[in-house]
Amino acid sequence: MSSQPDNEPILNYEVGSKERENLEKEITSQLSEIIDIPCIINGEEIYTKNTVTQVVPHNHKHVLANVHLAGQNEMENACNAAVSAQKAWIELGLEERSKIFEKCADLLATSWRMKVNASTMLNQSKTVFQAEIDAACELIDFWRFNSYYAKNFHDELQPLVSPEGMVNTTEIRPLEGFVLAITPFNFTSIAGNLPSAPALVGCTAVWKPSRNSYYSNYMIMKLMMEAGLPPGVINFLPGSGAKITETALSNPAFAGVHFTGSTGVFQGLWQRIAEALPNLKSYPRIVGETGGKDFIVAHSDCDEKSLLVALLRGSFEYQGQKCSASSRAYIPNSVWNSIKDNLVVEIEKIRMGDCNDFTNFMTSVIDKRAFDKITGYIERAKSNRDCKIITGGGSNEETGWFIEPTIIVTKNPKSESMVEEIFGPVLTVYVYDNDKFEETLKLCDEASPYALTGAIFAKSEENIQKAYNALRFTAGNFYINDKPTGAVVAQQPFGGARASGTNDKAGGPLNLLRWISPRSVKRTDMEIHDWTYPFMKK
Ligand code: NAD
Repeated sequence: MSSQPDNEPILNYEVGSKERENLEKEITSQLSEIIDIPCIINGEEIYTKNTVTQVVPHNHKHVLANVHLAGQNEMENACNAAVSAQKAWIELGLEERSKIFEKCADLLATSWRMKVNASTMLNQSKTVFQAEIDAACELIDFWRFNSYYAKNFHDELQPLVSPEGMVNTTEIRPLEGFVLAITPFNFTSIAGNLPSAPALVGCTAVWKPSRNSYYSNYMIMKLMMEAGLPPGVINFLPGSGAKITETALSNPAFAGVHFTGSTGVFQGLWQRIAEALPNLKSYPRIVGETGGKDFIVAHSDCDEKSLLVALLRGSFEYQGQKCSASSRAYIPNSVWNSIKDNLVVEIEKIRMGDCNDFTNFMTSVIDKRAFDKITGYIERAKSNRDCKIITGGGSNEETGWFIEPTIIVTKNPKSESMVEEIFGPVLTVYVYDNDKFEETLKLCDEASPYALTGAIFAKSEENIQKAYNALRFTAGNFYINDKPTGAVVAQQPFGGARASGTNDKAGGPLNLLRWISPRSVKRTDMEIHDWTYPFMKK
């Protein structure tokens, strides 16, 4: 058994702290140049002729990088490089592979921390705190705890019985082939984890990063290379998701997909994989964490101040662009009447702007497409007679894609913004009669196809238990008297069911088990020279 790691401590970045000084220097330095981001295939940097720019979302005229997109050749070469690298990577063994990812964690905790945090702040428009808990702490935790889990289940999965004269073992063999890791923009940690979790247990990977996080994700790729990741084990491929998928599926060694992103894209992927099955050597593993319509339900006996904080932080941190962000709330009449004005007062205190100004709690949303989609929901709510916007509702895309934190109160619990994923700073509240708690739990369970995160706020044990039971399948991560965001590796393994994903729990051992295909080995030392059995004797 290896010794259990601790969660990475979160740095505070207070005025006058060393970390703040270093981070500010790094931000200035990253803003002062435009870099070129290549594809990285078999350890080689490939600069193609087809480039796009990567901009700062809260200041979208500022270009951070020119990104060289993969064409058909690069895509095929990346898949072939991953296939060729696998034999040596398996034979290196789990201990040595773990050492590389533990080194990644150490580099990220030290010399790379500011580089990766600054790039996440600029590329994905995160405040310093949101960057620190994601790009630094969570990814460090993924690498350390995954190594720990993999080493431990290696021993735990061994057969219980080896009768005299034989030895039974289980080889913790990886899938045969490469895994396609398709990653979302919103967490640098998830982007780093999706290719590296399968790689830790011996798969190789083709990593397709999101077009909105090429810059920070490239830093992670460079960090892994500095930590000693051998060429070809993870191949970094900016470019079209649809085309990379098509190319990967035309290679018989495609062994699985590790996806995080929206539900529609994942469902399409699953269908493409099903169509490609006859061409594939193995049945691929399909792991996907997808969208959410995360809820907070309050009971009339709840602590109202904690509820207010959860609604504000849970819905508006990182502009509501967390898959776990609360975006619908069911609040009893008495509680709503008591907190509504204060909630609006507090939300109107939120400062929004450039992430360089550390007093800002919110920055912009990720891109023009997200801006249009989210403001579309707000505009439709404005003209919906069931809905009333009680704070926010404004937006401005002149400098960056800024949308005010917005609360819609609806009379219709099935109204559009109450059931669809918006993925922005919009919370919809449905106010229910105090004596309709159980009906409201049922409503919450049935209103939306998603089942990612959710929270109950109540004091009495009886009410907590009612919600716990009624909402069993409504959330893969369930919170009691806390906001539904902020899952921590090794504390709340993360994932949802229904339309929210395959619930393979990143940040726990279950995810890693999806990337292995064990081999049972029986070895006997007995020499058997007589083919007959005792019962046959006269
Ligand atoms: P997205 O679905 O737009 O993109 C995700 C990835 O899929 C990107 O790399 C994208 O380029 C790629 N992609 C897009 N179309 C594709 C296609 N046709 N074929 C193959 N790949 C394709 O999602 P996003 O905007 O990056 O992230 C936001 C979404 O991710 C939200 O729905 C959010 O809920 C979800 N999310 C879920 C979790 C979770 O753990 N459940 C975590 C983070 C984000």
